Amino acid sequence: MSFSLYIHIPYCESKCPYCDFNSYAVKGWPEAQYVDALVAELRARAEQPPWTGNPIRTVFFGGGTPSLFAPTSLGRVLEEAGRLFGLEAGAEITAEANPGTVDLAKLREMRRCGVNRISFGAQSFNPVTLQFLGRIHSAGQTVTAVEQARAAGFNQLNLDLIFAVPGQTLDDVANDIAAAVALGPDHISAYNLTFEEGTAFGAALKAGRMRQLPDEKQAAMYAMVRSELPRRGYAMYEISNYARPGCEARHNLTYWRGQCYLGIGAGAHSYAADGKSGRRWWNLRLPAAYIAQAAERGIAEAGSEALDEMVSTSEFAFLNLRLIDGLELRRFGERFGVSFEERFGAQLKRLVEGGLLLREHGRIRLTDRGLELADSVFAEFL
Ligand code: SF4
Repeated sequence: MSFSLYIHIPYCESKCPYCDFNSYAVKGWPEAQYVDALVAELRARAEQPPWTGNPIRTVFFGGGTPSLFAPTSLGRVLEEAGRLFGLEAGAEITAEANPGTVDLAKLREMRRCGVNRISFGAQSFNPVTLQFLGRIHSAGQTVTAVEQARAAGFNQLNLDLIFAVPGQTLDDVANDIAAAVALGPDHISAYNLTFEEGTAFGAALKAGRMRQLPDEKQAAMYAMVRSELPRRGYAMYEISNYARPGCEARHNLTYWRGQCYLGIGAGAHSYAADGKSGRRWWNLRLPAAYIAQAAERGIAEAGSEALDEMVSTSEFAFLNLRLIDGLELRRFGERFGVSFEERFGAQLKRLVEGGLLLREHGRIRLTDRGLELADSVFAEFL
């Protein structure tokens, strides 16, 4: 069975105040050593089940800012992954890029090295919002980066947007959507800003120096995103993701469908299903510690967790429910040898009666109201 490969590049030019990813603002980064560590980890994993002998379906360079690395560095990792596992024909190979860190030559080189899908962290086209979010790029740089990506031969292109930013109005969000759509990407991700613990925004919120938009306003913005993007040809297929027909992000579908993925790099998580149960593990978070251990032993695991049948069924439920198509009841039964009703009958009844889930055509999915209250729906399955 094929699997998805995630490769984490943990460096950024500066740390955005809302970001809780495993990323570090640096002036210089040990690129060669980090790539050596990634290659060492790939080689070690290639000798372990369930990866041995299985080809790769999708690759995702995420971060951090993968576009800080030379395209040839990404190419070296890809080449090694292809040699060790084999890349399926038509494999989706995505790299995240900060619009402020690319130019035409770099994008051409990325394409030449095998990357065939690019994901730009646009976030907004409004200078005030971009500044508030602490971004290093301007709206103009996003426009230029998209034009250059096209010229470099990228047909698959995603733009990330963030909404519900303090100070933002509904009109601001509508303008961001219009500006993103005008650039003609085939995929748009639109995330509701969150204030996570351990971030500068999280601390500001706690200290009362910053306020979130009122819930009703955030809900109104989300409702507008959910109606505007589909109206403009981008069907909503996941809580935060919209795509032209057939252009859904295959890599991310792996996560939401509860399929296997191997994550390499500092802090990367992996998941391997094993019949009705599974295992999850994660790497050392600090890049220096990761590099040292991966270079020495190949494996730089910091911890792992066995997922018994109960946990596996719960995760499968709430991950699949993130998809607009929802969860296919037949697939649940095939995977776990028990029907969804047997396992989650009480929750299903309660949520359907409460108007948060809908059951039809052999699937269950979130209703419009369920989308707004998705976190509380998922909590029912924990
Ligand atoms: S560029 Fe992305 S990964 Fe880096 S700090 Fe900003 S949001 Fe986080």
